[in-house]
Amino acid sequence: MDVQTLYDFIYSLTNSFEQAQDRQNLSEAFLKALSIFFPLKEIKIYMMDEYSFVLKDFIKPWQNMTSTKDYQDIKKCFDDFLVQKTNYKVDKNILYFPIRKQHKTLGIVQLISKEIIKEEDKFNTNDFFKIFPLVASQISMLITTLKSNEMVQIASKFHKTLRNIAKITETQYELEYILPIMGEMIDGFVLDHLIYIFLKNKNKKGYKLIWPNKCSDEKIYEYLEEINSKSSTIIKSDGKMGIFPLIVEGKPYGAIVAYNHFDKITSKELSYLEEIKSQAQMTLKKAKSYVEVLTHATMDALTGFNNRHQFEKRLKETVSSAKRQNTPLCCIMSDIDFFKKVNDTYGHSVGDCVLKTVAKTIKKELREYDIASRYGGEEFIFLLPNTNIEEANVVAQRLRKKVEKKKINIEEYKIENVKEISVTVSIGVSEYQKTDKEPEMLYQHADEALYEAKEGGRNKVVIYKANQA
Ligand code: GH3
Ligand code: MG
Ligand code: MG
Repeated sequence: MDVQTLYDFIYSLTNSFEQAQDRQNLSEAFLKALSIFFPLKEIKIYMMDEYSFVLKDFIKPWQNMTSTKDYQDIKKCFDDFLVQKTNYKVDKNILYFPIRKQHKTLGIVQLISKEIIKEEDKFNTNDFFKIFPLVASQISMLITTLKSNEMVQIASKFHKTLRNIAKITETQYELEYILPIMGEMIDGFVLDHLIYIFLKNKNKKGYKLIWPNKCSDEKIYEYLEEINSKSSTIIKSDGKMGIFPLIVEGKPYGAIVAYNHFDKITSKELSYLEEIKSQAQMTLKKAKSYVEVLTHATMDALTGFNNRHQFEKRLKETVSSAKRQNTPLCCIMSDIDFFKKVNDTYGHSVGDCVLKTVAKTIKKELREYDIASRYGGEEFIFLLPNTNIEEANVVAQRLRKKVEKKKINIEEYKIENVKEISVTVSIGVSEYQKTDKEPEMLYQHADEALYEAKEGGRNKVVIYKANQA
């Protein structure tokens, strides 16, 4: 073999590894590099899973291949490599060789050639077999390096997940909002599992699914019934399902369920999930006490506005005083446009920062005796006593413009190339009518107008017209 061919081969391997982003890329790079020696059709790589003792496809490790026809052949070959320490095996058009690291056999590569590989004549003549030990050790090294890089990434993702979960509770207390986010985060890091989050029904028996929105496995609900206040992790379905009860203040509150259709949950995964569970429990505990505090409180923690509970109270008072004094009263309802996209693009902490900033921006434009409340997630509601619809329209337009112009500084969140962002709001405005039977009609009308503003393209103010309904 000439030096150039060898050089080309090693160069192409090393080079391709540097560029390989993932397993698929890497395997394609091997195929290309090895094609110098054989007319190759395909390359398959299998790694031994140290927990389940099953060989797994390097590219699709979640696929169960034990039932496939080829599996027995590959497994037998792998077992031979394990005991015999031979360096390769040829079978017709297939060449197998082991992936080894420090004399441990970790996996097996299957090269499928378009032609029969004749070992006998080729052993001394085919260049490939001359440099074979080098090829095998290079490939083994590249695969094991990629694997350990992945491990580092998973560990760091895990810690990020924990940090994020902890962060949510700094500002959030609505469980229906917190739990789906937790589900999404956990899902992002335990790739091979289905993750479910359940909450116990408050007054009725049983559990309800909070994340994701479907669970087709009815058995899980039966298993959940086994949870009691002293439960620790329950393992089911031959070790493939882990139920992690969320116990808050000595009572079952919900559960995180991890399910892998093919494999047992490994002890490493168990310890990761265990830690996530305790973080989730802490989050729930905090959220629960927040809720308790807030049912007595009047203020929304994030914005400093009235909370919804307090809003309902203030609405009644304000309406009856307007009636009594025969003064006009208007309601402005605002909703941030495409707010979900802010969360999805920059994360929920940035979302919270946007909420706070928008609230602050609007607050500055209101009069002292206007009543500002946080109605829901990113919906605010303002009651403007002593204000008629024309004046309220002017105020609403001013709010809309101020928000539109506001540059929200997000430097502290360290997002690459983004120092500030801006958002817009859609607004609905309504005026209290003496004919309105209930005080609630005031904001229902504003809500209808808001809906129209959204329909009409967003970043708009729409005034409710009594005859439109
Ligand atoms: P549009 O109103 O323009 O129709 O679109 P949108 O994306 O704003 O719509 P939607 O009302 O469906 O989404 C509101 C999102 O607000 C959903 C939820 O994840 C998010 N959200 C609700 N409360 C909070 C919160 O307190 N903090 C953060 N960061 N996000 C929240
Ligand atoms: Mg919105
Ligand atoms: Mg909304």
